Amino acid sequence: MSPHVLVLGGTTEARALADGLTTRTGIRVTTSLAGRVTRPGPVAGEVRVGGFGGAEGLAGWLREQRVDAVADATHPFAGTITANAARAAALTGLPLVVLRRPGWEPGPRDRWHPAASLEAAADLLPGLGQRVFLTTGRLGLAAFAHLTELEFLVRSVEPPEPPMPPRTRVLLARGPFTVTGETAVLRDHRVDVLVTKDSGGAATAAKLTAARALGLPVVVVRRPPLPDGVRAVPDVAAALRRLHELLRGR
Ligand code: NAP
Repeated sequence: MSPHVLVLGGTTEARALADGLTTRTGIRVTTSLAGRVTRPGPVAGEVRVGGFGGAEGLAGWLREQRVDAVADATHPFAGTITANAARAAALTGLPLVVLRRPGWEPGPRDRWHPAASLEAAADLLPGLGQRVFLTTGRLGLAAFAHLTELEFLVRSVEPPEPPMPPRTRVLLARGPFTVTGETAVLRDHRVDVLVTKDSGGAATAAKLTAARALGLPVVVVRRPPLPDGVRAVPDVAAALRRLHELLRGR
């Protein structure tokens, strides 16, 4: 029987990983999506949608579906599913490959203000600017809802829901974004501070280049740590190599 790989998805890398695995014949690939986005892009192989019901639920699913290896290619800020994947791998004895794109690094001209959480980012904002470009996603806006004096431009893929700051304008858009486009957004909306998660990757890095050129401060929310004992690979090629090694001979 073909070895079965579960890819925990929701990222560009997860899609590329499913592509790479399915091009090698003899591997069955199922990608799991949380179901947060109403129109996800096409994914190679099989797709399932929705939560598993915690680590135990995931472990049960892995046993039931006779999975041979788990690849966690979720977003660096999706800390709960990553913790659940580590726990479920331990419960089932299955190999786990965690793919985490590297975080962004500030350059000498960057004015970055690290924050440990969205709440800590909100605490920093009143001292940094008045017109905020908030690119941390539509979930988590509640952390900024009490900042009634500041103006927010919120960019998200799907429309956000309250609670959110009262003076909010919404820009619906999906990356990748260009430096020219990001510079235009910052200028047109007279943004004076940017807030971002340290998502890493090229698709959404242009805003940092644009902010640097305009001399704007950037609040950068740090990633949640990986679970104890988990080491990540940095890209799709390394994840594919690791999975092929693990599945060799199966
Ligand atoms: P999270 O906080 O780590 O997970 C919350 C719960 O959602 C999990 O406990 C799990 O439910 C379910 N879940 C998450 N990812 C799943 C997946 N790939 N397949 C099935 N169930 C999943 O996750 P999140 O931050 O809300 O992110 C949700 C999804 O969006 C992830 O797949 C992630 O890759 C993607 N994403 C997240 C961000 C971000 O900034 N957080 C950005 C871009 C894309 P159960 O416990 O019931 O299994």
